[in-house]
Amino acid sequence: IAYFEGDYVPLKDANVSIMTHAFMYGTAVFEGIRAYWNADEAQLYILKSTEHMERLRQNASMLLMDPLPSAEELNRIALETVRRNAPREDVYVRPSFYKSTRSIGVKLHKLDHELYVLVSPFGNYVEVENGISVMSSSWRRNADEAIPARGKIVGGYVNMAFQKSEAELNGFDEALVMTADGHASEASAANLFLVRDGVVITPPVNDDILEGVTRRAILDLAAMEGIPTEVRSIDRSEIYIADEMFLTGTGVQVAPVTEIDHRPIGDGAVGPIARRIRDHYFDAVRGKLPEYRHWLTPVAMKKKAGK
Ligand code: PMP
Repeated sequence: IAYFEGDYVPLKDANVSIMTHAFMYGTAVFEGIRAYWNADEAQLYILKSTEHMERLRQNASMLLMDPLPSAEELNRIALETVRRNAPREDVYVRPSFYKSTRSIGVKLHKLDHELYVLVSPFGNYVEVENGISVMSSSWRRNADEAIPARGKIVGGYVNMAFQKSEAELNGFDEALVMTADGHASEASAANLFLVRDGVVITPPVNDDILEGVTRRAILDLAAMEGIPTEVRSIDRSEIYIADEMFLTGTGVQVAPVTEIDHRPIGDGAVGPIARRIRDHYFDAVRGKLPEYRHWLTPVAMKKKAGK
């Protein structure tokens, strides 16, 4: 079941025309939200729904979409879409506002927009146990003055697709992407963290990153755990000498990186701080840690027949 243009419909009926503006020009914004299944409690939890909906609204207005439903209303629609699918496993929830007018002409103004929300089963996007490998991409991050990475704009993701495919076709798991001025920005669809001398470091929001919901969560979690953090630009060579590296995002979750450009990071194994943060994060998102319960929205599922 998807939410599509004001209704809950079977996914196969949620279709747009080839004339749809967003299909022709990429004029849409989207969010990726996870919902985690807690098997012990037989409970599904949506992670950080409000944060995602607020970012979605901000980005939709960047593309001159007006009016927009409130974040509360968007939360309600996403929750209802998930509830109607009644999944008993981890799922990905994708809301998107897209320019729905069927017309030719590259522009943003004076076009209608619509909302869809789809729900899909979703396991691990990358390996999170033993560490992944990363290559420095030959593609630069699209700059804020071109297609803002902050905007999570559908058309902008062709930039990320170039990076991810280049990395995978060269035998790596992920890409490290630089800004136009040569600073480390982020991965193809995840934010970047280093650990040096016990300090967790991540690039600032003005290094052409997506302002990741998970990035914010990890900075908060580190502070709660008494791990010092620093937000500042990172040079490529700094990564080569870092003690640890990990990526964060709704999809990658917390993914330790153990190799970059054929060089081991630290001693080439998952480091202690990345491990600690990752393990805490996975407990938090499944509702196992009371101090992080405010991250989660429980989904009241339909009772099975006879119960
Ligand atoms: N950067 C990019 C380019 C992304 O697509 C994503 C995934 N949404 C992230 C970072 C991580 O952001 P978040 O933690 O909000 O999922």
